[in-house]
Amino acid sequence: MSFRRYPDWVWQCIGLFALTGGLSLYSITLARATHSPTSLWLVNGAMLGLLVRKPLAEAWPLLLAGFLGFVTAKQILGDPLVPSLWLGACHMSEALLVSTAIRRRYPAITPDTRLLDLAKVGLISAFVASGLCAFCITAVAHAWPASEWWTNFNAVFRAHFVGMIIAGSTSLVIVTKDWRGSAPGGLPWRLIRDLLPLVLIAGWAFSFARYPLLFMIYPPLLWLVFRHRFAGMVIGMAIIALITTAATMLDIGPFHMAGGTTPALRVMMAQVFIGFSCLVALPVVLALADQDRLQARVRESELRYRMLADNSGDLVMRIRPSGERQYVSPSVKELLGWEVDDFMVPRPDLIHPDDRERIAGVVAALRANGGAVTATYRLQHKDGHYLWIEAFARLVASPDDDGTTEIIYTGRDVTERVQVEQALTESRAQLSTIADNVPAVIARIDMTERYTYINRFVEQVSGESPDDMIGKTVKEVRGARVYEQLKVHLRKAFAGESAIFEYEATYRGRLLQFQTHYVPDRDASGRMRGVYALTTEITHIKNVERELLRLAHQDSLTGLANRRYFNERVSLVLRQSAQFNMPVLLALVDIDNFKSINDSHGHGTGDMVLAEVGQCLQRLVREGEVVARIGGDEFVVLCSNVSNESNAKGFVHSLWERLHMTVAVGTGDLEVHMSIGAVLCKGSISADVLMKLADEALYMAKDDGRDTYRLLIRSLQGSDEVGSVAHKPGQVGL
Ligand code: GH3
Ligand code: MG
Repeated sequence: MSFRRYPDWVWQCIGLFALTGGLSLYSITLARATHSPTSLWLVNGAMLGLLVRKPLAEAWPLLLAGFLGFVTAKQILGDPLVPSLWLGACHMSEALLVSTAIRRRYPAITPDTRLLDLAKVGLISAFVASGLCAFCITAVAHAWPASEWWTNFNAVFRAHFVGMIIAGSTSLVIVTKDWRGSAPGGLPWRLIRDLLPLVLIAGWAFSFARYPLLFMIYPPLLWLVFRHRFAGMVIGMAIIALITTAATMLDIGPFHMAGGTTPALRVMMAQVFIGFSCLVALPVVLALADQDRLQARVRESELRYRMLADNSGDLVMRIRPSGERQYVSPSVKELLGWEVDDFMVPRPDLIHPDDRERIAGVVAALRANGGAVTATYRLQHKDGHYLWIEAFARLVASPDDDGTTEIIYTGRDVTERVQVEQALTESRAQLSTIADNVPAVIARIDMTERYTYINRFVEQVSGESPDDMIGKTVKEVRGARVYEQLKVHLRKAFAGESAIFEYEATYRGRLLQFQTHYVPDRDASGRMRGVYALTTEITHIKNVERELLRLAHQDSLTGLANRRYFNERVSLVLRQSAQFNMPVLLALVDIDNFKSINDSHGHGTGDMVLAEVGQCLQRLVREGEVVARIGGDEFVVLCSNVSNESNAKGFVHSLWERLHMTVAVGTGDLEVHMSIGAVLCKGSISADVLMKLADEALYMAKDDGRDTYRLLIRSLQGSDEVGSVAHKPGQVGL
């Protein structure tokens, strides 16, 4: 059969039944045998240890077991049942009152529970509960004669109060202390061994009635207290109380030395002695308990911090001002490959030579000024390679409390981070070098239109430093006029579209042309966060472009516009004239017999003649007129400012007249004549038709013997009827 078949509470009830029954039998029998009042009622206190561990709802089986134990003892002694039931109820109420008071304040008694506070709660509740219980008992059992009521109440109260303190503390200690795993020589065995002197001396002192040697029990009691703290005190006091009360009630021991004492007085003297003994031991045990608790806490916290340091991946050290180490964490092996012992002495040799001086300075400053410092430096691994260590060190007062200081050092491996940072710095420097030397302005503009980056090239363009520009808005930097040109493109780029455009701006008195490319800058989630701007100065390109354009449109020999330019302009002029219903005059000028000039005077002279004619025409041309060389010796004049026929005739005549020139050649002067075929047109007409008509007129002039002009006037009614004017020197007519 296994005892484990029954739950713990059943065994507790059986144990409590036996305990209360046994203690009741002992106390009542002893009192009756000696015809003295009960000096120590241990029954109620004995239940306390178990009751404080149960909530009220679960405590009733224990109370019932105790109650039955007491009533059974009374029945065995032959006492009447009804008063026994009443007394049993009174005893259980007392135990319940005290346990409830303790439980309310301390739901669980642990090694951390402050015993001084617990003792206060226990004493007050025991005093009140013992008083109430004594009142209930004497009210029923000892009420008569009334003259003895107080004496009886007093005796019952004292026996209950002292019994509750002694038995209550003992049971609390026994039940709440962890006795498990106590091998012989372990705690209960040592307790029993240390109890022996007390038992022997107390037994001897009480059996030796001739001299008052009660003080002899204090040394073994205090010895017990020092050895076993609270447990020693309560168990020692329980033994003293048992021996004292038993001896006193059996009329032996030192209390009989006082002559003329009654048993009741001797019981009282015994109770006072027990209480006094408690008062001797209690302050000592409380002080020791507090000290123990504090020491345990210190040990625990030391252990925790030691655990932190021992298990930290960082290197933790406590360094004396001399450099000698008080503590080096085991992580030094994992971090640097060295054993803890290798690191117990200063190791400046392991610091990278380039960092040694700096670190020595940092340490000297820390020792001189105190406070805390952070430094990043290289330490050599046992393998020979260097690690970057980020160290945090603080100067603190030595925990040894000897007035000295020490440095608390924590170092961690940041090699990877430092290498990444170095690579980043290098790549930034490279990028910056490239950006600063690109012959273009590279800038970044945030969404508030402020420059967040701008390369050094801007200095060469505008003379401003990038540092002065960063943080300012585009409008502030470029001025309101330029900003007006940029604004529309900037907005477009902020909306997420690239933009390429050209604009002009004046810097240091020079009008410059720029081409800018805005590229939207988005974050990882695709949200716009700014614009990159690449701006190139294109003034010289524009100049070249203009020059090319000019060359493409200019006749190199005469400096006049060429046929290509003329063709572009004639279409434009005709369109405008048709739009505003303005007449247009076109005159073709051809040098007479130019071939023979070439033939007689050489091609160079021919060229010279052409150039002279070109310059002459250039001089004759006014605002709104276009003059061009459209063939070998053929020139054209286009006027859109001739308002009527008469003006047209005047213009052609004047042209013909002024073009008569004499060119100096090597052999003499050369007379140069022209023939002009002109056409005046009103209304819509194409360039080809206009040219064809002018060509016809020129042909007519040539046919007419040269050195003359012909002006055709195109019918305003749109018919092809042509009027003409012919002229020979000295002859004007239709
Ligand atoms: P006409 O009176 O009928 O106009 O007779 P012309 O001799 O002037 O004949 P035409 O206008 O047809 O001749 C043009 C000549 O101009 C032909 C060519 O040799 C010459 N010529 C064309 N271009 C150049 C040039 O650049 N320089 C020189 N020196 N001569 C040119
Ligand atoms: Mg000609």
